[in-house]
Amino acid sequence: MRLSKYFVPTLKEVPNDAVVASHILMLRSGMVRMLSAGIYSFLPLGYRVIRKISEIIREEMDAIGGQEFHLPALNPKEVWEETNRVEAFGDIMFHIKNREYVLAPTHEEIMTYHARNVVKSYKDMPQIWYQIQTKFRNEPRPRSGVIRGRQFLMKDAYSFDISWEGLDKSYELHDKAYRKIFDRCGLKYFVVGASSGAMGGTGSEEFMVKSSAGEDTVAYCESCGYAANVEVATSRVDAVERDNESKSVYEISTPNVKSIDELCEFLKIEETQCAKSRVYIFDDKPILILMLGNDEVNETKLEKVLGGAVRPAHPDELKEISGADAGSIGPVGFKGRIIADNRLKDANNMFSGANKNDYHIGGIDFKRDIPTVEYADFRIVKSGEGCPNCERHLEVFPAIELGHIFKLGTKYSDSMKAFFTDEKGEEHPIIMGSYGIGVERVMACFIEQSHDANGIIWDKVIAPFHVHLIGLNLKKKEIVDACEEIYNRCYSEGIEVLYDDRDVTAGFKFNDADLLGMPIQVVVGEKKLKENKCEVKIRKTGERFDVELSELKNKIKELLV
Ligand code: ATP
Ligand code: MG
Repeated sequence: MRLSKYFVPTLKEVPNDAVVASHILMLRSGMVRMLSAGIYSFLPLGYRVIRKISEIIREEMDAIGGQEFHLPALNPKEVWEETNRVEAFGDIMFHIKNREYVLAPTHEEIMTYHARNVVKSYKDMPQIWYQIQTKFRNEPRPRSGVIRGRQFLMKDAYSFDISWEGLDKSYELHDKAYRKIFDRCGLKYFVVGASSGAMGGTGSEEFMVKSSAGEDTVAYCESCGYAANVEVATSRVDAVERDNESKSVYEISTPNVKSIDELCEFLKIEETQCAKSRVYIFDDKPILILMLGNDEVNETKLEKVLGGAVRPAHPDELKEISGADAGSIGPVGFKGRIIADNRLKDANNMFSGANKNDYHIGGIDFKRDIPTVEYADFRIVKSGEGCPNCERHLEVFPAIELGHIFKLGTKYSDSMKAFFTDEKGEEHPIIMGSYGIGVERVMACFIEQSHDANGIIWDKVIAPFHVHLIGLNLKKKEIVDACEEIYNRCYSEGIEVLYDDRDVTAGFKFNDADLLGMPIQVVVGEKKLKENKCEVKIRKTGERFDVELSELKNKIKELLV
């Protein structure tokens, strides 16, 4: 492809509505343009990457026996009403104005609809059906470019089995295929899983990549692969050690001391000697939650422990509940249920609020002074804490979901009456799985992981082109001739070349080559050409070396292996 004729509108400036690296670079390199919030057009260069990723996905899906469909995005609403998902999706689902049709946000219903009509006997299964197709979701906050769009490409696959063991097998196949797909695309990913084991039904795994653009926060151990959403993650942290002797309780005047840090500073004590109080309302009743030092309450875990929704008490409720404002609340004399984080188990000689403004209490013995206290784990894990599964440490960071594999069980086959008959002629619901990959997210996440200050750094597999050929001073016939020859020879060998044949300055060409990020740059200039040589630059390492023109094709092939 010749850049002089190719539509690649690169930008020098960072577009001001773009914050994350992949979004900025996809706009700057002329690969996408926004049409409206969360709706993007792929321009020719960007679409080449989408096609390459899609091909890898197709090859790996076909390798596990997947059969490619192409379902309509425009769906009759009544099919979605069979599973009540028009209601479940709510505002996320786009409706066509006359309300008879919806735009599909996913395709469980439509695949189940087809299975119901044709997959009737145990002999018809297993089946794996997939497609790569546009999905529509009215995401409330589209952001980070194509990472969270209102229209996006998804590879969605569905498995149909006669038994839970069969589902386990289909699920395993997808797990392996997904690893191959993401490996081939050159992504560094990890898997957050909650496999339910033999009975299936609720097993699911999410394939994630670390990225500042992520909207999930995960705790990850690089050493053993432990990975969990922080909402459920645990860590290996020490509980406080009980002193041999318990002092008696005493009150201390602590004017204007509100936070744990201020308390430590004022009393010259350690964070690990303090029990921080948080008051929540559960079932219309106050509960005092005690955390060690500056540990934070994980409300998801807390709700799990309590078995229902909680809310923090409002500041104006606190005085009535405890007799003090936030910053002076504590367990001694607190009327109501008290639950402490496991790290405080049987602690003594602790400091906490006195339930009286500007006062704290020292010498608290949890066994003696708070006999009704209960213990549970509901702290938020932090980076650097011990991994719960091995001797190493956890890292906590934002991450993006690339793909998701999920054991659906009979959820859709039950509600849509997709039944099959077994060998004895008895009827059962088909056992299903569903498996998704966000195609644009694969592209954006690759860029998130592989770029520098100058631009994108493509890997040969999903790069739009393999080689970026730069002819300097194209007024010279010998340079044009050499470039033309390289260009033609590479194409005849299956090497994809983007040839910068534009009449612009060398600096402009070099900047664009780094921005667009093809793995190999070939520069043809007057001086080296006199020695029958050109210069090769490896985008990833910045390494440059001269190559004889006669050797160039072989050298490029060698570099692309
Ligand atoms: P998220 O939690 O990020 O919204 P999801 O759980 O809604 O994702 P699924 O319904 O499991 O996603 O869809 C399968 C895949 O489709 C996701 O793993 C993701 O890669 C992709 N995807 C989902 N929503 C979007 C979106 N709004 N824009 C781009 N890709 C998306
Ligand atoms: Mg979503």
